[in-house]
Amino acid sequence: MAAQQLRNQIRLAFPVTQFDGPITSCDCEECTGIREELRHKRWDEVPVTFLDLTCSPTLLTPEAFNAFLPAYLLRALDDLSRHSVVVEFTVYSLCPNDSQENGQGAHAGSEDGVNRLLQRARLMSLAQIQAIRAFLMFVQENAGDGEWFRPFVARALENVWR
Ligand SMILES: [Zn+2]
Repeated sequence: MAAQQLRNQIRLAFPVTQFDGPITSCDCEECTGIREELRHKRWDEVPVTFLDLTCSPTLLTPEAFNAFLPAYLLRALDDLSRHSVVVEFTVYSLCPNDSQENGQGAHAGSEDGVNRLLQRARLMSLAQIQAIRAFLMFVQENAGDGEWFRPFVARALENVWR
């Protein structure tokens, strides 16, 4: 699949609407900053500098994860090289992981593992799940760290995004 085709699939799957729901559920400085930045925004309005700074949507509530994931997916596709942190951490935010690699351990209301991901998956439409699957498979094939992502992606496709 060509990158452009995948971009179109992502854009079609995620409606461009202003998000007014809960953004983060933790009151630390980082989560408060995220809340202020994303409040009343559409995913296509999120600045690239913010995406690059936060690296992934992992701190967001399931509702906000659904609303803003496409911004991270598209940003990740801009740079698939080994040093790209957005692709690395966005992949982790979609993959079950027993360790603390998502960097979310210190945040209130966060819980690692499959259950957290299933909360995110439950809010996704079929088209959104298909776009996420296509993204994960594309990154596994084309990213500089694709080989490294392979076991994470396999677990994610089998247990979460189906
Ligand atoms: Zn926090």
